[in-house]
Amino acid sequence: MPESPHDVHMSADAFRRHGRAVIDWIADYLENIEQHPVQSPVKPNHVRAQLPAHPPERGESFEAMLRDVNEIILPGLTHWQSPSFFGFFPANTSYPSILGELLSAGLGVQGMLWATSPACTELETHVLDWVVDLLDLPREFLSTSEGGGVIQDTASSATLCAMLAARECATGGATNDRGTDGTLTVYTSRQTHSSIEKAATIAGIGRVNLRLIEVDERFAMEPEKLRQAVRADRRAGKMPAFVCATVGTTSSNAIDPVRAIGEICREEKLWLHVDAAMSGTAALCPEFRHIHDGLELADSYCFNPHKWMFTNFDCDCFFVRDRAALVRALSILPEYLRNTATESGHVIDYRDWQIPLGRRFRALKLWFVIRHYGAEGLRELVREHLALAREFADWVRESKSYDLITDPPLNLVCLRHVEGDRRTRAILEAINDSGRAFLTHTKLNDRYVIRVSIGGTRTRRPHVEALRGQLSDLA
Ligand SMILES: *Cc1c(COP(=O)(O)O)cnc(C)c1O
Repeated sequence: MPESPHDVHMSADAFRRHGRAVIDWIADYLENIEQHPVQSPVKPNHVRAQLPAHPPERGESFEAMLRDVNEIILPGLTHWQSPSFFGFFPANTSYPSILGELLSAGLGVQGMLWATSPACTELETHVLDWVVDLLDLPREFLSTSEGGGVIQDTASSATLCAMLAARECATGGATNDRGTDGTLTVYTSRQTHSSIEKAATIAGIGRVNLRLIEVDERFAMEPEKLRQAVRADRRAGKMPAFVCATVGTTSSNAIDPVRAIGEICREEKLWLHVDAAMSGTAALCPEFRHIHDGLELADSYCFNPHKWMFTNFDCDCFFVRDRAALVRALSILPEYLRNTATESGHVIDYRDWQIPLGRRFRALKLWFVIRHYGAEGLRELVREHLALAREFADWVRESKSYDLITDPPLNLVCLRHVEGDRRTRAILEAINDSGRAFLTHTKLNDRYVIRVSIGGTRTRRPHVEALRGQLSDLA
């Protein structure tokens, strides 16, 4: 008798044992994360050079795998969960989120349709209604209205979905069938995230039809310039379709004036998408909800709990005011997916709200995060980051060696050394090479600027003070 193929599987007992070891490993890693240099020091190909050229012919032990994680993988990581990680924007996480992610892996359900796992869809719809409450978003985004929310992998995908819906709306549903004819135009600010340009290329609108609107001295879009650009395009026979406003730009956290932009979009009948990927989380706190002023004029909105709301990557919350418009743009129903629940019209099939067909059970981790911390706990953590950023900005303002580039609207502080680009860059590199903190840069008004993004789950006052100390020593 040949051996049963079952023998090659990991046994349930071994899974329990290794699973506990992995949970311990993660807790040890996170509790001792400050022992590692924040930025990985390895050179290109260092990791691959240690890996066997060919896959193993015979299965290996789990201990061997975990040993290689320690010896090969760990040194090749930049530690995003380090409390001294101030680069890019955070991708913070938390224990309840990690457990939600693990459960999702354990369940292994594929939630493309309501019928493929009703709880996967219904929990997601429910949690996104909670998010409307948590951030005090417009009621139009509730699933009980004409709109609703969905979890996307990233803000980039959310923006692409919004642009595709806008494209279909603007052309009366013609573009999916016939393609674009080169007349559609889309608008965003010069400071917007690169994902808008990428969406315009993927959606077939093309870079030539993407208008980058000028910004004011605080790097926020100038609404009048938007109006002028839209009108000029109409005069030239173009078909303006879509505007993306940003709440919290990536370079400087600038907040576009959503209300003024929204009023123009209403007058001109344009789809308004609001990208608040990083900064939307601030609206947990009533005193910061002014960032969303005018959001009721938006057709769609997204923010990333996977940046600053303690939820593992990937988790972007995407809301639309008219779900029918989104579904019209993204729905295709092949025979093999037909089912009575879908045909009843009483259920949501989230496959029609996103680019891929398949989807993970992401709502679990967000549900766990919200339930573990409660609105109060989340607000407390976010307020701490915001206060730390304010104090840090005050320090920069008073420093003789550094200039504050703009008054930080939220928790991103942009600064440069008074001696200019080269000096600023050398300081950033010295800090990153030290392994004691990690920073990234941008360019504002063509000048090299250090960004200090304060939003890590474990980032506390001593970490920001240590960074200040390093900046002082290098000044
Ligand atoms: C981070 C960011 C994005 C892109 O986020 P992904 O989820 O990685 O696609 C888009 N817009 C803004 C404003 C961002 O900060």
